[in-house]
Amino acid sequence: MIDTDTLDTESELRAEIVRLNKVVEALMNRVEHSSTQHCSDFDQFQTTIMLENLVRARTKELEAALRENEKINRALQEAEEKFHRVLDQSLVGITMIIEDRFHYVNPKFAEIFDYEVDHLLNMGMMELISDVDQPALREAMQKVLNKDLAKINFIANAYRRNGQLITVEVSGSPAIDIGGKPAVIAVLADISERLRSERQVKALHEQLQYQAIHDPLTGLYNRLFLNENLERELLLAERRGYEVSVVMSDLDHFKMINDCYGHQAGDAVLKAFADIMKRHARGSDLDCRYGGEEFFLVLPDTSQQTASERAELIRSALVAQPIALADICIGVTASFGVATYPANGLSSVALIGAADKALYLAKDAGRNQVVAAAQPSL
Ligand code: GH3
Ligand code: MG
Ligand code: MG
Repeated sequence: MIDTDTLDTESELRAEIVRLNKVVEALMNRVEHSSTQHCSDFDQFQTTIMLENLVRARTKELEAALRENEKINRALQEAEEKFHRVLDQSLVGITMIIEDRFHYVNPKFAEIFDYEVDHLLNMGMMELISDVDQPALREAMQKVLNKDLAKINFIANAYRRNGQLITVEVSGSPAIDIGGKPAVIAVLADISERLRSERQVKALHEQLQYQAIHDPLTGLYNRLFLNENLERELLLAERRGYEVSVVMSDLDHFKMINDCYGHQAGDAVLKAFADIMKRHARGSDLDCRYGGEEFFLVLPDTSQQTASERAELIRSALVAQPIALADICIGVTASFGVATYPANGLSSVALIGAADKALYLAKDAGRNQVVAAAQPSL
């Protein structure tokens, strides 16, 4: 856009040069006329020469000014071309909106929505925005136009020409005056891909977090999680003054199940036992797979008596539920050792050791039973 003031100046300069040339021509004619008539007057001749010199000097000044003006024009044109190149090559969409309509859009803006630039210039801005986001956008635009809001900054869902829904981030400048109308210049970027990647990274992160603390076969917490959390549970128990009981369990003769029915059948038994444990755990309990066919349950704020009863419930539930394999059902049993903080151990290592010892006693006593760690004598 070339400044109209500059154009006016240029045409004025040109007009003045033409006028001056006419003056010079008229003066010259007069001098020639006077001399041919043989009535030359020396003073008149001198005045004419002087005027002619003045006119020539002025003409030179005007020509210099004209050249300067042309230089300014060229610089302006170059600046405008550079400005357009920047807008054309911009990686973000740029638009100027006047009265809800696109007054200007750069090629990137048109590319984002898959329209021709000229097509967009005949469209209203709301035609692109999803119905749900229109009221918020309208409100934001109004606030910017009323100067209640310094800048528009929002994320909206918008439609491309083929109806594809994309998510765009829009930043709008404060309203400026263009030809007496308030205009908003907005920069817009298609962030659909970025959001998709962010969602994928978040999901992957959550998956990794889950995998880091869960056993993939049974979905129970893993030993790492138990080690990290049992100590914390004990500290909490010490501060709040309650007991924490733990139950360590181990499937009986599990090796035989693997040997007789295969490893997959063994896995099915592990999963079935884990499901029974989950069913018997409260939200505040930690149910873990401790090792191969060993499981661990942490019961905060639970006495040894209550923990033993819970272990008994799990034991009898397993006995009552023969596990269905491909073509047969097999009965499986497990042994349990129960220990309680602070009576049987003050640290997680001591407590796990006490539960393991009780479990060993249960195995030794014939399996398929619950044994509680001995209470220290007072
Ligand atoms: P006990 O009654 O004394 O506990 O005897 P057991 O046979 O259960 O104990 P043992 O320690 O001899 O055998 C445990 C078996 O568990 C051996 C191992 O192959 C099997 N095992 C460990 N992890 C897995 C697993 O993820 N899947 C399957 N199918 N078997 C496993
Ligand atoms: Mg076993
Ligand atoms: Mg074992």
